[in-house]
Amino acid sequence: MQYKTFGNTGKKLSAIGFGGMRFKKEDYAHSFVKAAEVVRHASQLGINYFDTAPFYCDDKSEEIMGEAFKAMPNPFYVSTKSTINVEPTADDLRKRVELSLKRLGLEKIDFLQMWCILDLDQYKKVIAKGGPYEGALKLKEEGLIDHICFSTHATGEEIEVMVKDGRFEGVTLGYNAINFAYRQKGIKAAYEQGLGVVTMNPLGGGIIPQNPDHFSFIKQNQEETLAQAALKFNASHKEITVVLSGMSSIQEVEENILAGNSIEALNEERTKGIASHLSEGLDTLCTGCGYCLGCPVGINIPKFMDAYNLYILTKKDEVVKDRLGMHWGLSTEEATKCIACGKCLEKCTQHLPIIKRLQYIGSLK
Ligand code: SF4
Ligand code: SF4
Repeated sequence: MQYKTFGNTGKKLSAIGFGGMRFKKEDYAHSFVKAAEVVRHASQLGINYFDTAPFYCDDKSEEIMGEAFKAMPNPFYVSTKSTINVEPTADDLRKRVELSLKRLGLEKIDFLQMWCILDLDQYKKVIAKGGPYEGALKLKEEGLIDHICFSTHATGEEIEVMVKDGRFEGVTLGYNAINFAYRQKGIKAAYEQGLGVVTMNPLGGGIIPQNPDHFSFIKQNQEETLAQAALKFNASHKEITVVLSGMSSIQEVEENILAGNSIEALNEERTKGIASHLSEGLDTLCTGCGYCLGCPVGINIPKFMDAYNLYILTKKDEVVKDRLGMHWGLSTEEATKCIACGKCLEKCTQHLPIIKRLQYIGSLK
């Protein structure tokens, strides 16, 4: 496993990090022992960055980590989160951190993320007087938090503004071969500002391994799987400290470790080669993050946008209809229910033209 220094913190983190959002229900429903075993196995094999959050895995992820942390084979760092949507004030944040510490069985959180800052408006609320950032600073003074970071789905330009404010020591953001161009500005700005950079969603919501015809170009050798190649693609950026991968089994841990053992730095020539493969269209794929959910007329937007992804990749109407009907059990007609209220547009992490895409799907017979 390779290790990189996280921004200006001096902490050396494993290039592949453990994402605690994919534990299998059968491994934690009655006891945390089996899920905790997966965490300890990752530690045994060299992973030292463990990311969790309230609400992951039916709100059990932190407790599973806590179970594992009782007997970790190696030193480790933990990252957990607080969101302004649930903890809008400094006092709320304190209560959240106290609960996380209890669940994790720790006296200090290494990295606290101000979770999923959607845009600059929300950023202003996070840093407002009496808001969660102020609460986090106080907890840092008291020694309950080591580093205050943020996670975001904002555009590269907006991330640049946030990191240049100098309040944070690290950022976590979605980055992969699909949204490469869209996010690069933010990653570079964070790196140049001395922040550590953690990336999540390296597989683009599963799109990359499911579409070898379009993404095989990211492989550095034929032996590796596309999932391993996608992890390595992220990890080979000098700006990225840790690539998070959600791991649910010992086998997945071992596959990820193989990727972490063979990272080659991305040189300028290869970066250009990859960029030239990424057409405009590939930057506009839906990543399936689900942040647009909550449509007032009940449209399951991620499923429709997943079908539209196949239109971008294949340009075939039939493929879109098959995906909707056979994979998701939906009809194209359901897309016509959209009343164009625009609520989903405000929430979409990729800033996709959802209404136009639904109109296209609704027009398919
Ligand atoms: S614009 Fe259409 S799809 Fe989006 S939330 Fe409104 S009704 Fe739903
Ligand atoms: S439409 Fe946007 S917010 Fe919704 S799942 Fe896709 S990328 Fe995420």
